[in-house]
Amino acid sequence: MVPEAELTRKLERACIKAGADIVACADPIVLKQLSPHNRPEKFLTAIHTIVVVGIHLYDLVLDAWSQPPGAWKGYQFADQILEGICYRVKDFLGERNYASVVVPYDGLFLKDAAAVAGIGPIGKNNLLLTPRFGPQVRLRAIVTAAPLACGTPVTSSEFCLGCQRCIDACPAGAFPEGRYDRVTCETYQLHHLIKISAYSTIWCNFCIESCPVGQDSKK
Ligand code: SF4
Ligand code: SF4
Repeated sequence: MVPEAELTRKLERACIKAGADIVACADPIVLKQLSPHNRPEKFLTAIHTIVVVGIHLYDLVLDAWSQPPGAWKGYQFADQILEGICYRVKDFLGERNYASVVVPYDGLFLKDAAAVAGIGPIGKNNLLLTPRFGPQVRLRAIVTAAPLACGTPVTSSEFCLGCQRCIDACPAGAFPEGRYDRVTCETYQLHHLIKISAYSTIWCNFCIESCPVGQDSKK
């Protein structure tokens, strides 16, 4: 059996080689304690670790959604890239006889899993804040029976102390009393879609673009 730390290092290298900008492991028990709605074991009974991978949305096109007429949302272009990375991770684990499942995008609260993996906190803008790329990232997860070394959970955002740029920048007032209101946000977004082609849209991004975290990496 390959020691946990060595297997984790190899997996991280495989993820980066496959195109991931972010990779870290979360303990499913801690995730369920901090975020009870998450049930990662429904994807794999013998779960030991959640691998969270992410890419930096460095280009506006990566942030776009395919949006056929009348559809709520199609797919986000970055998800196609992430899915390829996840299946490379699955191959890596399978070659070492570890079961794994690529979790559907909405199968887990990915921000929570990323925070438990130690990638970064969830900020006042209700988004994951990565030290390098700020909130401008897209995530996916793989659950696996492999015993990997998990990160230290981040439960509060030091970045947000004394800051509320995202709240001030929100044109919808979607942070009444400082807390994110999904209905207000989504209603505003649906009425302000930016079309970049006949079937492609960009959704409101003010709370991402106004955040100073990871500013150097901003598009
Ligand atoms: S803009 Fe400021 S308050 Fe909002 S998420 Fe970023 S650091 Fe936190
Ligand atoms: S996406 Fe737009 S409307 Fe929604 S919270 Fe962010 S800034 Fe406000």
